[in-house]
Amino acid sequence: MNIYQVSPKIGEEELNNISDSIGAKWLSEGPWAEKFLDNLKSVSKAKNAVLAPNGTLGLYLALLSLDLPPGSEVLVPSFTFFGSASSIVFAGLKPVFVDVSLDDYSMDLNDLKSKVTSNTKAVMAVHIYGQIVNLSKLSLLCKELNLVLLEDAAQAMGVKYDGTHSGCVGDIGVISFFADKTITTGEGAVVFTKNDELYEKLKLLRNQGRPNSGTFIHSSLGMNFRMTDLQAAVGVAQLSKLKDIENQRLATYHIYLEYLFNSENIGFMKRDKNSTFIPFRFPITTNKKDLIMQKLTDARVQTRSFFYPMHLQPPLIKYHNNKVPCKNSESLYKSGIALPIHGDLTENDIKLICEIILQNSND
Ligand SMILES: *Cc1c(COP(=O)(O)O)cnc(C)c1O
Repeated sequence: MNIYQVSPKIGEEELNNISDSIGAKWLSEGPWAEKFLDNLKSVSKAKNAVLAPNGTLGLYLALLSLDLPPGSEVLVPSFTFFGSASSIVFAGLKPVFVDVSLDDYSMDLNDLKSKVTSNTKAVMAVHIYGQIVNLSKLSLLCKELNLVLLEDAAQAMGVKYDGTHSGCVGDIGVISFFADKTITTGEGAVVFTKNDELYEKLKLLRNQGRPNSGTFIHSSLGMNFRMTDLQAAVGVAQLSKLKDIENQRLATYHIYLEYLFNSENIGFMKRDKNSTFIPFRFPITTNKKDLIMQKLTDARVQTRSFFYPMHLQPPLIKYHNNKVPCKNSESLYKSGIALPIHGDLTENDIKLICEIILQNSND
């Protein structure tokens, strides 16, 4: 490949911090983890935060902390990454798949309302491709229906809705630091919560059911959901680049738009005015998905399809027993391509990608 889908903005600053961590001979969670958490809290204004090994386990940890009755239903969009749904199943709960809007790829609130039952206990909102959609309406609805609101903000580090950082509007929220996310620690995540009781539970659950390491009396059951200090050291350097990453991605986004805007055969994600935007990919929809993806691959450009719907995933079909397909999620899978938007792209790269798209998108 000449043009990769993802390229983290990583280098000397991260190396220096790692080298400091190794010099200090403190490899498990320690001073860098503390610093990373403090910095995450100051950037997000989150009241409470704990680190987690990755986004999927962060969601699992968040769900465990809610202590919902086994088998409770959790509403989750069908259009998302698999980890949103699998974490629900592993937590002993039942995912109920909600269709999304073709405009902004986020949960359709009418479909969501129609799927609420007496057994529904929580909603997992997923912030897709770098923006947050409809969160104040959803938040009100959850209050009305007495549902917990969990934010899968894996793709939304730095993104704010009505001035509030992702993961901090709902009861609990999770941001991933996987290698392809906005900032990365390789693997890693943070769980935010404004609820002090949940925070206490999260701390116990993530550290083998004890208030601090070094004691061998475990007051409750917990697991090991910690990160290493090496990863946190990388995170501190990454977080200091967040504003640069935001600016660079927005600039790249606008270059893509300039090239593609006039094409009638390309669809774009609609922006929610209440949300800031840190593009996660440049998503497009087209009737010529397969052809365009092939031509881009031939030109050594790495592309990705949109997500395959959760209600069609082999291990999840059995949870979708109301049999009404989530049609828009299916349609997005059939037409969606995610284009790269990272800092190594040159204007020529973007021009090349857009020319291939324009040449092959006509019906
Ligand atoms: C990446 C991602 C996750 C999972 O995060 P990991 O750190 O890769 O486990 C969950 N949900 C969404 C929407 C994601 O994009």
